[in-house]
Formats: sequence, structure tokens, C-alpha cells
Amino acid sequence: MAVAIELTQELTWHTLRSRALYLDVDGTLLDIAPTPEAVAVPPGLIAALESVAKRLDGALALVSGRPIGALDQLFRPLRFAAVGIHGAEVRTAGDPTRTADYLARQLDGIRAALVSYIAQWPGALVEDKGLALAVHYRGSTVDSQVIGRVMRDLTAFAGPEFMLLAGKSVFELKPAALSKATGIATLGGTAKFAGRTPVCIGDDVTDESAFAYANEAQGLSIHVGTFQSTVACYRVARPADVRAWLLALAAAPENEP
Ligand SMILES: [Mg+2]
Repeated sequence: MAVAIELTQELTWHTLRSRALYLDVDGTLLDIAPTPEAVAVPPGLIAALESVAKRLDGALALVSGRPIGALDQLFRPLRFAAVGIHGAEVRTAGDPTRTADYLARQLDGIRAALVSYIAQWPGALVEDKGLALAVHYRGSTVDSQVIGRVMRDLTAFAGPEFMLLAGKSVFELKPAALSKATGIATLGGTAKFAGRTPVCIGDDVTDESAFAYANEAQGLSIHVGTFQSTVACYRVARPADVRAWLLALAAAPENEP
């Protein structure tokens, strides 16, 4: 059972210095919106992330289901170290993105089938990430069990290298061997992150692998929200709590003990 934590009180610079931050984006840094395109990045958040990243000597990464290119658009002009598509992409800050491209081609047949299904599901939309295919049904009147059944069939057809992830109003077909945890482990082996204990913050089922990774590494796992069974050790209620904490960290004096 995750214990409620007051981030601004308990995760100050004093406790953060030797840690690395791995932050989910949607539902963690940003409030969930009706569609992935409709999210808003509140004023000040990008500057706060930049400041916190700098004071951690670069040990801050965005860890998202979105492709890294989409993260760069949201947080432009900054390009943070990042894990994209639930672990299928990894990038250290500024470096080229490493992806498992060969897997994308295996989805060609599934992609075509999904487009014809989607035509029968008003309000649902497909997000084609190349290495993963997500169906968002928040705006749809179609029974989610119907969509889930089709997505399970398509996942079986895609073969054992893929799995289905059921998130908040989304079904996502993604590479099975890659997860947010494998992406974080890859980043954790790079210069800016090595030797730092992880602090993983997220809100959805896909973040559970990151929480498990943090727990294993004697780090901190923090779930955002209230209605999920989670392996995270701590929880906060809302993305606004995470943002307030980051803004407070960015505003804290450099020489704070
Ligand atoms: Mg999320």
C-alpha cells in the first residue's frame, strides 16, 4: 500500500543530490487531456525542469509512452534525456535516439487491419508510434471490451515479440521485451545517471515496471493518483503536486543544505 507523501516537504535538495529523476509525462507532469494532442504544458514547467536537470548534473529523464520526438515537441526548445514508447526508444540528452526499428516493420499488417477496425469505432483514435500502436477510446461510445477483444486478437497475430498494455482509456500493442524499466536501466548505465539511486514517478500501469526497478535499486517509487493498485511505495494525489514540487526545487537557493 503506497504511503501518501508531501513531495515539497520530503524530497528537498538535501535528499535529492545523489539521485536521478525519472518522470512520466501524461498524468504525472501533465494533466490527462481528452486526446494526446490536447495536453497543455503549464507555464513555468519547462524552465523548472531545465533548472532541476541542471542542478542534478543532467540526471533527469522523461519516461513516457509517447515517442521521444513528441516529447521534444511538447517541451521545446529543450531535449531532455528520455525513454519513449514505453522503453522502445532511449536517448541520453542531446544524443541520437536509439530505437528497436526492426520491430516496427513487423507491425505493418496489424497497422492496416487496425485502420479498418477504427472506422467502425466512432470517437476512437489510433496513435501510430512506429514501434507501438495505441487505440485511445476516451471519446468513444463503443464498449471498451469490444475494442479490447480486437486488440488482444491483433496482439496474438503480431507474435510473441509484442504484448498488449491496457492503460487509462487506451489499449496499446507494444514490444514485449522492452519496458520503461529496461529504458531506465539503459539510461542508468550512462555517465549522467550512473551511481545515482532512481526516483521514479508515474501514474499508470506502464509505470509499474519503473516502480519495481526503483524499489529493487533502493530508490523511491511514487504513484500519482488514487485508484490503482501499485507496487509504488509512495503516492501523491495529482500532477499539480508534482509540478508544485518541481517549481519549488527550481526556486530553492543553490546553497540550500
Ligand atoms: Mg502517465
